[in-house]
Amino acid sequence: MNITKRTARIVIIGAGTAGIAAATRLLEQGFRNIVLLEAENRIGGRINTIPFADNVVDLGGQWCHGKVGNAVYERVKELDLLEDTEDHYETYKCVRSNKQTLPDDIADNLKSIAFNSIPERQAELVEFRGSLGDYITQKYWNEVAKLPPIDRAIAEEFLENFHKFESSVEAADHLYEVSGRGHLEYWLCEGELLLNWRDKGFKSFLRLLMNARSDEADDLGMLKGRVLFNKRISQINWEGAGDLIVRCWNGEVITADHVICTVSLGVLKEQHASMFVPALPEAKVRAINGLKLGTVDKFFLEFAVRPLPTDWPGFSCLWLQEDLEELRASERFWLESVFGFYPVSYQPRILQGWIIGAHARHMETLTEEQVLEGLLWLFRKFLPFDLPHPLRCLRTQWHANPNFRGSYTFRTTYADELRTGAWDLEAPLLDVGGRPRLQFAGEATHKHYYSTVHGAAETGWREAERLNTYYRSRTHRL
Ligand SMILES: Cc1cc2nc3c(=O)[nH]c(=O)nc-3n(C[C@H](O)[C@H](O)[C@H](O)COP(=O)(O)OP(=O)(O)OC[C@H]3O[C@@H](n4cnc5c(N)ncnc54)[C@H](O)[C@@H]3O)c2cc1C
Repeated sequence: MNITKRTARIVIIGAGTAGIAAATRLLEQGFRNIVLLEAENRIGGRINTIPFADNVVDLGGQWCHGKVGNAVYERVKELDLLEDTEDHYETYKCVRSNKQTLPDDIADNLKSIAFNSIPERQAELVEFRGSLGDYITQKYWNEVAKLPPIDRAIAEEFLENFHKFESSVEAADHLYEVSGRGHLEYWLCEGELLLNWRDKGFKSFLRLLMNARSDEADDLGMLKGRVLFNKRISQINWEGAGDLIVRCWNGEVITADHVICTVSLGVLKEQHASMFVPALPEAKVRAINGLKLGTVDKFFLEFAVRPLPTDWPGFSCLWLQEDLEELRASERFWLESVFGFYPVSYQPRILQGWIIGAHARHMETLTEEQVLEGLLWLFRKFLPFDLPHPLRCLRTQWHANPNFRGSYTFRTTYADELRTGAWDLEAPLLDVGGRPRLQFAGEATHKHYYSTVHGAAETGWREAERLNTYYRSRTHRL
């Protein structure tokens, strides 16, 4: 039978940003037979906006990063949905584990070294053969040497904190696993890097993609009836040239002409060997092994009133060496990777904290009570004043969830060694006639905007366009 745009059966695995972008674009292009299989009981994936305190919080994607060339910004710029975020992530206090707050002039000098290194990297890393950690550490000490003398211990404590902060940007356990050159594959979009969604959250973007009219979770707009929830895929059989066979964990089987797989790199790492029959080509497995999806988790603490004094725009935690050694020998060792707490736009009663890496993965295994107890201990250790008891505390568990297994991706030094990258992860598996059968989308497959929502959306559109181009060229040939 002649398959056409109208009859082609397209199964999209995952209803996160990439899946929704692919499905909505395909429908706009005239494809009709589209279904999204989603393991969770909600859409959005790593966008998860939930009600909390005075309005909402984003457990995953939170800010639109930049304007020029940012597909999310382009889509919403006329709608007045986004706003520049206050500069809490620049003006925060640096507080030491002996409750001493760094004087502003010292903190500002150290912060300016850290912040200036961001644009300067673009030129300097081209020639650099090493990790981002090597680069930042060398650069930092060179610049510190040019300043009026600073207590060496304080400079070291600040550098440690800056490493953690930057590791959260990369989602790396530490910066020594991030490729210096690979870091340049990421393109920054010009313009404010932290644009927030006021009191509405990132789900506003998904609503626009789907053309949904209301805020209700069950309003899927043009995807109504096309998303099947709690459908976790266990296997995709792409053998031969006929139907692809998709198996769910509950035993259900769905056949397709095309499958677009948008599961995270974490899911691929854990499951690709059993998920794909036959096994994926070597180049793709190399990319799955070489690239990495690290862990960044958030804490949200709700208080009855604004918790910090008005001249405290948030704070970063600088550990004294002796305190750190004591901490490492205790049950609370995971607190070493909690690097700071900052306000949330439109949420005056909230503090948002961050934790990275292996300690974040450990934190995810603790009970909520243990987590809260640890954070309260941290506040008492660092802050020169008492914080009120929070009304509520929420933490994320992006790694523990088998449908994510982490937060977002980065380019590793190991990927450099393997000479692999997003291009290998993106490559579709075609039949001998050039028909795309098994396609890959999702943030990790973007060559330049990986780790972001705008990157994920572009990959969904890319794969929709791939199918559209294929069917258009067939129509011309007929
Ligand atoms: C803590 C955190 C903070 C972030 N902050 C920002 C930010 O401020 N700005 C920004 O731009 N980006 C941010 N990101 C990154 C951004 O959220 C992601 O890059 C983007 O949402 C990824 O979309 P995706 O479609 O590629 O993947 P996902 O959203 O992960 O979608 C994949 C979908 O596949 C489903 N799935 C997985 N396995 C299966 C299976 N076996 N069967 C069926 N379905 C399956 C999942 O449930 C999921 O819904 C952040 C992410 C995190 C975690």
